[in-house]
Amino acid sequence: MASLTGRIALVTGSTSGIGLGIAAALAAEGAGIMLHGLGDAQAIETARAGLERASGVQVAVSGADLRSGAGVRRMVADAHAAFGRIDILVNNAGIQVTADLVDFPDEAWDDVIAVNLSAAFHATKAATPGMVARGWGRVVNIASAHGLVGSARKSAYVAAKHGLLGLTKVAAIEFANTGITVNALCPGWVLTPLVAAQIEARAAASGRGVAAETASLLSEKQPMAEFTTPEQIGALVAFLCSDQARTMTGAPLAIDGGWTAG
Ligand code: NAD
Repeated sequence: MASLTGRIALVTGSTSGIGLGIAAALAAEGAGIMLHGLGDAQAIETARAGLERASGVQVAVSGADLRSGAGVRRMVADAHAAFGRIDILVNNAGIQVTADLVDFPDEAWDDVIAVNLSAAFHATKAATPGMVARGWGRVVNIASAHGLVGSARKSAYVAAKHGLLGLTKVAAIEFANTGITVNALCPGWVLTPLVAAQIEARAAASGRGVAAETASLLSEKQPMAEFTTPEQIGALVAFLCSDQARTMTGAPLAIDGGWTAG
């Protein structure tokens, strides 16, 4: 029997990129999956049906917007309506906006903090009472190397990701003897739509082309000139959900090609 058979996982922002890789890894271990995210309805249905076919587990979808607490609570309610429980919560949804701090649009600041930080607070608050009642749960927060170090032009993102590590530590301490662990992953570069947009913006500004900008994006921050994959991140989340990881809690885990080693 797969290690997560009978468990239910809600993965926020899993209609694309890293979240979809995490959902696939947990489904491969037998967990029922609540996919979540925004985007083209047909593409989301194709992803949902493909995951269900490949894994044999039930896969449902929520399209709640996480920019408000009410939206986050609607997503958790959607998961409860579809499955009756949430055992694993992966707070993965995130957005990026880049601008110098003095020019950073106020609305963009609010959106980045809401989706990358406040949504994890609201989702953890709404999803953990059931985990406590059942004596088992896993919360995994997808932070970033930018949860540990800063970069220019990313004030809201870096602030949100540092905040997410703080939230992770407090939740880990509060839930220490409940059967729930709370950890954070700090990935370096992963080639997803979020990063492809940054590479395309750099290529448009410099005129040097996507390949050249991809190489310099990697080399500026990471000693290792290689992207981490959504599958590798999914494997680490699956390990955190295993029994072997039962005493790992409150940890910021770098998976970043050496970005934060220096
Ligand atoms: P992505 O753009 O591919 O996916 C983001 C997901 O979040 C999508 O499913 C999208 O629908 C959802 N989302 C965005 N805004 C939303 C909103 N208002 N309400 C609900 N859902 C919303 O991004 P990704 O690269 O896969 O990033 C996933 C997570 O990993 C993010 O938290 C990101 O900060 C983090 N991360 C990414 C990288 C990287 O290099 N790609 C590195 C470190 C950390």
